[in-house]
Amino acid sequence: MKIKFSKEAVMKAVVFHENGGVDKLTYTDAEKPTISPYEVLVKVKACALNHLDIWVRQGLPGIEIPMPHIPGSDIAGEVAEVGMEVKKFRPGDKVVVAPGVRCRKCVYCITNNDSMCSSFKLMGFQVQGGYAEFAKAHVDNIIPVSDKYSFEELAAIPLVFLTAWHMLITRGQLKPGENVLIHAAGSGIGSAAIQIARLAGARVITTARGNEKLKKAKQLGADEVIDYSKEDYAERVKSLTDNKGVDLIFEHIGPDTWEKNMHCLAKGGRMVVCGATSGPSTTMDIRPLFMKQHSIIGCYLGSKKELLDVLNLVEFGRLKPVVDSVFPLKEAAAAQQKMLNRENFGKIVLKI
Ligand SMILES: [Zn+2]
Repeated sequence: MKIKFSKEAVMKAVVFHENGGVDKLTYTDAEKPTISPYEVLVKVKACALNHLDIWVRQGLPGIEIPMPHIPGSDIAGEVAEVGMEVKKFRPGDKVVVAPGVRCRKCVYCITNNDSMCSSFKLMGFQVQGGYAEFAKAHVDNIIPVSDKYSFEELAAIPLVFLTAWHMLITRGQLKPGENVLIHAAGSGIGSAAIQIARLAGARVITTARGNEKLKKAKQLGADEVIDYSKEDYAERVKSLTDNKGVDLIFEHIGPDTWEKNMHCLAKGGRMVVCGATSGPSTTMDIRPLFMKQHSIIGCYLGSKKELLDVLNLVEFGRLKPVVDSVFPLKEAAAAQQKMLNRENFGKIVLKI
């Protein structure tokens, strides 16, 4: 399908017209967004990939998304245009876009529980995203940033650091000296979580496959690394903790890890959960849940306030974006394939 736009109204973007495999991603002309008085048009310089991009492309039952769809939740760029009522920003300002779109008025929004807002949406998911030359957002979502980091590094921050912070600090209440198990050190979210857990003073135990990823996980601050393809991580966790198990598990895998997680969670331990990359459902023995007084805590993204906290720590150099590789926008399909192959350590970023 070829759509004609007038020259000023056109931009390059990677879109899909229907759900399916990476071959559905097309580099093409798309309509340049137009802004309302409280919105900002951002010239996208970099947009990071998330596993969510793959779910959205494949299709999520019961969730309507705009079509043709532009994926991409993590946008860094420059202000291109501001709406009439926007006084805080000028064209050329370096910014990142907070990915959570909310009403800003409800009880959840005013108490920093943005992702519980009933009109909560995510850029690149229920609204158009950043695999494009331009993206628009409400001024409330635009965050000014310094020149300390490149656009690629800045794009590597929002979604994963925000989610990991919300899981470990806000919901998981991680304390200094606690043992924490972080799955998949090489994933974008794993590489963020290792740093945050380390900053919180916890002893960080992490899993990955292959010596190269284990080595990088140690460099990021992990205390103990486990190659899950070579050894039983639950057994190793028990031996590392004198058979007690870990106090907190950072879970985003799903059925592949669920049951083993319960075996290596300490009495009174918490498991924070933000995703299920290996599938949507599992079974579990309920008895240890109450006998060992475990808590399973669901987490979804986080608030703008938490994102500002994270960005401050990045600015101070206490947290660092981990960029695995950078692809040109038109190679978005190859970039997603690399993520599917789990060949990355940290974030894969598109440069626009
Ligand atoms: Zn709200």
